[in-house]
Amino acid sequence: MENTKIWLSSPHMGGNEQSYINEAFESNWIAPLGPNVNGFEQDIQKYLSGNNEVYVAALSSGTAALHLSLVMLGVEHGDEVICQSMTFSASANPIMYQGATPIFVDSEPETWNICPNALETAIKDRISKGKKPKAIIAVHLYGMPFKADEILAISKKYDIPVVEDSAEALGSTYKGRKCGTLGNFGILSFNGNKIITTSGGGALVCHNEEDKNKTVFLSTQARDNAPHYQHSHVGYNYRMSNICAGIGRGQMEVLDSHVAKRREMNSFYKNLFQYNEAVTVLTEPSKDYFSNHWLTAITIEPKLFKGVTREDIRKSLDAENIESRPLWKPMHMQPVFEKYPYYGGIISEELFKNGLCLPSGSNLTDEEKSRIDKVIKSYL
Ligand SMILES: *Cc1c(COP(=O)(O)O)cnc(C)c1O
Repeated sequence: MENTKIWLSSPHMGGNEQSYINEAFESNWIAPLGPNVNGFEQDIQKYLSGNNEVYVAALSSGTAALHLSLVMLGVEHGDEVICQSMTFSASANPIMYQGATPIFVDSEPETWNICPNALETAIKDRISKGKKPKAIIAVHLYGMPFKADEILAISKKYDIPVVEDSAEALGSTYKGRKCGTLGNFGILSFNGNKIITTSGGGALVCHNEEDKNKTVFLSTQARDNAPHYQHSHVGYNYRMSNICAGIGRGQMEVLDSHVAKRREMNSFYKNLFQYNEAVTVLTEPSKDYFSNHWLTAITIEPKLFKGVTREDIRKSLDAENIESRPLWKPMHMQPVFEKYPYYGGIISEELFKNGLCLPSGSNLTDEEKSRIDKVIKSYL
């Protein structure tokens, strides 16, 4: 037991997931539709809807949700789509699925998300080159909301829709509004390492019922209304299974407690590093931001740390069977994307160079925390 692996973020079941799955078996709804799918969608809608109601389509993954958002926005071959460079590759890949060109934009240092100034520069330059970008993909990395007022103002000014990649930010809010509901479309992920999981799954958050219905239509092979199989659109097999949705229903019951526990993990690290000027813990810039702290991430300034680097800390943790991981490597630095346009400076590059994500699961025990504490204290 003593040296069992401590993961960055692992699935954490609440207890009722199994009974929703049993219901699916008992009623033989073993399909990408059924009562759990409808129930899970309603649970998320209820959770996300504030003053404005949202409509949620449960899908097979967050990547599928991103892809369908671009399809819904009419992104086609040869179009350009702006994407936050510092993110997981799944934010950018769907641009390629559509045969469009990704235009990458740097981060700003406060939230580590898309920089409003670099975004506007990129838009102006693309327009001057003859093509107005079709969409802006902005990401709430590690659960930290992006600068939504600034980004949405630019979206409005240039009339370019925002796809809000909220895969890591279910439970986060910006000025009291839930992440996932701020953009023209929001996407959620329920992959195994996210704040709640359906083993694999995602959702597209829409602002009207028509968009939701169209998403469901496209995700179930775009069958027209006819007794035979009739198609007038290209379809996708992207709907969530009723088994996975059963897990999701159980997970929605414990989402708020997962958020509270992830935030406790964040406080744990803030306390650990509070007297160390070389380490910065990613922190909400003001009361407008509320992060679910899906992952707690730090940056290390080796010059202030007797030369200690993020790799030193990562390797020491690894030697104790504790997982940690460098921050996302920016897309404009990735071999597959490096030939595409990039706007901004070196913020995301520096974050990648010096940043580390620490174990942040909602299920970490006191014993596991003291193992982490011991390794980190050996440096402080
Ligand atoms: C996980 C993730 C996705 C993709 O979600 P999947 O459900 O794994 O397809 C997209 N964007 C970001 C930022 C993510 O972290």
